[in-house]
Amino acid sequence: MNDEARIREIYRRISEAAQHWPTTTLDHYQGQPFKALIAGMLSAQTREEQTLQAAETLFALADNPYDMLQLTDEQILRAVQPVSFSQNKAKYVREICQRLVEVDGGVVPRDLEKLMQYRGVGWKVAVLTRQVGFDIHDDITVDVHVNRISKRLGLVNPATKQPAKINDELKQVLPREFWARWNPLLVLFGREVCKPTYPQCATCFLRDLCPRIGVVQIGPRRFKNAEYL
Ligand code: SF4
Repeated sequence: MNDEARIREIYRRISEAAQHWPTTTLDHYQGQPFKALIAGMLSAQTREEQTLQAAETLFALADNPYDMLQLTDEQILRAVQPVSFSQNKAKYVREICQRLVEVDGGVVPRDLEKLMQYRGVGWKVAVLTRQVGFDIHDDITVDVHVNRISKRLGLVNPATKQPAKINDELKQVLPREFWARWNPLLVLFGREVCKPTYPQCATCFLRDLCPRIGVVQIGPRRFKNAEYL
């Protein structure tokens, strides 16, 4: 099997399995740029459940930048308490809404560079916002799951660290039509099978296609991320 056929088969198998897995947090905000932007910012270094809990609590209080600015600092902080760095992120919520209203007329920009001018919004959150909020898939969102699994599968150089560079390498090897779903599929796959510390290689449906780069066998049916040995 050549590499393109291998990649297509990997994608096909993950897509098939994903039909039986729960959706990811950001899927809740498809086509809703404001919610995608705020929830994306809240999601940094935070587990999905906590992100969703905080985002839903916040959006129950206000679902647009104008109403959000009417909330007190305490209300925002209480709502986003479940996420990591909640104090900073609560401030970012207000600063994002202020910029939206004062600079962009209350409308979330579609442009990557413009999005990255918002507080708390780096490259990854900007790409995520465009994908979820606007259905724009010029880039592949690189989070911890995409980083880890793409390397294990041998699609990205293990030495590459920066998300934007990982995105570039992935775009060289993944067919264009896979870019949109690569992140959500790998988030699910990473939660269910190719886990951070102990990937389920013994039973994984990709084991015949995967070189398991950066993974070591520690028992008859046990595997571990080599970095955590
Ligand atoms: Fe991940 Fe192991 Fe499956 Fe490869 S074989 S995709 S490392 S769980």
